[in-house]
Amino acid sequence: MQYYSLNNNSPKVSFQEAVVKGLAPDKGLYFPEEIKSLDATFFQNIDSYSNNEIAFELIKQFVGDEIPTTILKKIIADVLSFDFPLIEVEKDIYSLELYHGPTMAFKDVGARFMARCLSYFNKRNPTQVTVLVATSGDTGGAVASGFLGVKGVDVVILYPSGKVSDIQEKQLTTLGQNIRALEVDGVFDDCQAMVKEAFLDTSITTKMQLTSANSINIARWLPQMFYFTFAYKQLKMSFRAESRNKKLIFSVPSGNYGNICAGMMAQKLGLPIDLFIASTNANKVVPTYLETEIYEPKPSIQTIANAMDVGDPSNFIRIEKLHENNFEKLKNNLHSYSFTDDQTRDAMQNLYANHNYIADPHGAIGYLGVKKYLESNNAQCIFLETAHPIKFLPVIDPKIASEIKIPEQIKSVLGKEKVATQISEYSELKVFLLN
Ligand SMILES: *Cc1c(COP(=O)(O)O)cnc(C)c1O
Repeated sequence: MQYYSLNNNSPKVSFQEAVVKGLAPDKGLYFPEEIKSLDATFFQNIDSYSNNEIAFELIKQFVGDEIPTTILKKIIADVLSFDFPLIEVEKDIYSLELYHGPTMAFKDVGARFMARCLSYFNKRNPTQVTVLVATSGDTGGAVASGFLGVKGVDVVILYPSGKVSDIQEKQLTTLGQNIRALEVDGVFDDCQAMVKEAFLDTSITTKMQLTSANSINIARWLPQMFYFTFAYKQLKMSFRAESRNKKLIFSVPSGNYGNICAGMMAQKLGLPIDLFIASTNANKVVPTYLETEIYEPKPSIQTIANAMDVGDPSNFIRIEKLHENNFEKLKNNLHSYSFTDDQTRDAMQNLYANHNYIADPHGAIGYLGVKKYLESNNAQCIFLETAHPIKFLPVIDPKIASEIKIPEQIKSVLGKEKVATQISEYSELKVFLLN
C-alpha cells in the first residue's frame, strides 16, 4: 500500500516509511492511495469472527506485504490482549468502554500497534528512531507504556507542569528505560509548539530520525477502526428484536478527530454505520464549521475534558478527504455538538444517579451527544468511553469518586518515583535531544 501526502507536495511512500516519518516532508498527513471495501458478508457474519480476525481483516490492506501475515497476526494478538465491552446504559444507549488496556486510555491500542510495527521494521534495518510527543495527559501514558523496552526506539514525552492528573503524571514519568519525560513550564500548546519546532529544525533532523506518536501517524490512527467493528459485533449478538432495524449511530468524544476519523474509515470499508456524532467541549471549531461552513482554528480552551482541548484538530483534513471534500456529504454523515463543563458535570451526575454508571468527563460528553441527537431522532446509539474515570479524579464529584475502585494497572504505578527533566524553552529541548 502506498500513502500520499494530503498537501500533495511529497513523494508517495510505503507503509513503513509513513510510519517511520509520521508526517510527510511537506507537513501533510499521509493518506492511503486506495481504500478497498471488504466483502459485505464479512460484516453480515461479523459474529463468527474473533476480535483478532476482525482486526486482521480491517488492517491488512493498509499494511500490504510489508509485514508478513504471521507476524502481523502476532502483533494484533499482542495489541488486543484486553476487552472492549459494550455496556447498555439505557435502552438503545450503549457505552463502548475502551479503557481496559494497560494505561486505561483508548490510545493504548494505537500506541501498542505503532510500537510493534516500528520494532518489526527495526529488526530488519536497525536504525534508531526517536518518538517525540506532546501530551495533555492521556497520550503520554499510552505511548510510554506501548513503547517501553522497544529496541531502536527512544521516546521523549513533553507534558505541561501541573496540568495533568497525578495518575497521568506517574504513568509517563516512572517507567525509565527508553522513556524520558520533560516537564514543561507552560501549557499543552507550549509543549506542542516545541515539538513542532523540533520537527522543522534541520540541525536536529539531519542528526536523528524523529517521528510522532500522535494520531497523525497512520499506525496510531488506523487501528482505531477496530473499536467500531468490535462494538458492532457485540451489538449484533445482543440485538433487541425491536431495535433490529433502527439506525446505528456512534458518538465520539473528539479532540484531534483521529478516533472518529478511524470510525469513518471502518464505515468506508463497509461497516454499516448511519451517522457519526463528534461530541466535544468548548473547543468547537468543528460544530461551528458544520453550522456555518466556516472553518476557523482557534487557540485551545482549557476544560475538564482536557484530552479534547484542541483548537485546531489535526485529523479533520482526513475526514474531509473521506467525504471527497464535499460539505453536503460530510453534513449527511457527521453531526457535531459542543458542551460546557457544567453540562459535562451534570451528565456525570445523571449517569451515576439514574443509571448507576460512572463515566469520565470525555465519555460523559459522548453521552451528551447521544442524548442531544435522540431529542429529535430514533436510533441505537453507542458512545465511546475513552478513558477510565480514575484518571480524571480531580474533576469528578468526590461522592462519585469515592465509589471508584483503583484498578490494578493504576495501583502498580502509584508507588513509583517520578523522574522528569524540567524545561521552559525550546533551546533546552534541543540540547536534551542532541545530547
Ligand atoms: C485523546 C482522547 C480523546 C480525543 O481523541 P481524538 O482521536 O484526538 O479525537 C478523547 N478522550 C480521551 C480520554 C482521550 O485521551
